Formats: sequence, structure tokens, C-alpha cells
Amino acid sequence: MLDEFEVTGRARTHVTQFASPRFAAHPQAADAFLALRKAAADAGFDLHPVSSFRGYAMQVRIWNRKFSGRAPLYDIDGRPRDVRGFDDDTRIRHILDWSALPGASRHHWGSEIDVVDANAMPPGYLAKLLPEEVRDGGLFAPLHRWLDAHLGEYGFFRPYARYQGGMFPEPWHLSYAPVSLRAIDDLDLALLRRVTAESTLLGKERVLALLPEILERHVRNIVSPS
Ligand SMILES: [Zn+2]
Repeated sequence: MLDEFEVTGRARTHVTQFASPRFAAHPQAADAFLALRKAAADAGFDLHPVSSFRGYAMQVRIWNRKFSGRAPLYDIDGRPRDVRGFDDDTRIRHILDWSALPGASRHHWGSEIDVVDANAMPPGYLAKLLPEEVRDGGLFAPLHRWLDAHLGEYGFFRPYARYQGGMFPEPWHLSYAPVSLRAIDDLDLALLRRVTAESTLLGKERVLALLPEILERHVRNIVSPS
């Protein structure tokens, strides 16, 4: 059970920070991830956590960069969109294709880790976390075929395995089910409304109006563990 500050990323009392590799996660999720990482290493992969726990303030920075046009909005294939002429609702819907609403990010829970295979990266390569890296022939495709077979053994699943009207597919986003399946129940509309109302998030008035839809389409609408 996460409290209202933990589940919305406004506290980090539920996560442990690790130095090498550098990541922060719920202790149970971290143990499982390190075991998965060990098994991956035995198979020749360096399962590297690119993004793990993320707090509310960081998610607001990501959101505001996208809302203000300082960061690109991508389509489902990872190509930047032409945002000229987008009204606020369109902008918000397209941010939500790839990024969670602050307060409603699964990364707040400490159960989610975005991964790459550091062994597959050429020197100086910066992981993009875009479809081109994970599709057949992509840099991280071999890691993902290995994960297809093994992540379930360690309690992980892919909540964004395929597009079903909410988030675009993010195969690199792994979720530790024993923590995340409980955390999702700790988040409700009233809490999200309260947190959003107090936020410095751009487009806040429209977000508040769209909140019930966002909760259903983008937060609860995940691919369940098989
Ligand atoms: Zn992620």
C-alpha cells in the first residue's frame, strides 16, 4: 500500500536508491530487477535501467517542456509531429501518447523501469527509447526477444506492450507486478484532481476537465500481465 504522497510521486519514502547501476525503485521491485539483470547478464546482455523511479516535480518538467513546445511530440512511429495549430486539448492528448500526467505516472510507484541493453550500444550512444530501437533489426531487439521469454519469471510485465487507445507501445517499460498491481488501486480521481489543482503544470484547466478520461484511457487502460 502506497500513501497518497508516494502514489503520486510527491514522496520517495517507498524507494531505495542504488549507485551502480544508478536507479531508484521499491525494494521488492529492485530485488527482482537485480535478479533479472543477473540472468540477462548470463545471456550476454547488460540490462541497464535508463529510467526508474521518477518524482512529481520531474514529471511536471517533462510535461511542461512538451506542452510549451521545447520538447518534441512524437507520433506512434517515433517521428516528431508538426504541432503548429494544435489547441490545448490536442496538445494534451498527444503528450499523453508517450508521457504520463504528473501524479499519474507509473514511474512514481517505484515499480517501473525502462531498460536498454548497454552491451548493444556503440560508444557515446544515447538511448532514445523509441520504436526504431526495439523493432526487428533494432539495437535492442535481441534483448527484447530474451525478455519476452524471461521477464515473467521475475514478476515483470509490459503494461504498454501494445496500443489499445491509451499510451503508445513502450516495450522497454517493465513493470513489477506485485507492487504495481496494488499501486494502481491507491490512485483515484479525487486524489489526482487535488494534486493537479495545486500543480504548476501547463494546461492545467483543460487537464482538470479531461481528468476522468485521462484516468480511464491512460492510467487504467494497460495490458495486464499474462
Ligand atoms: Zn517508462
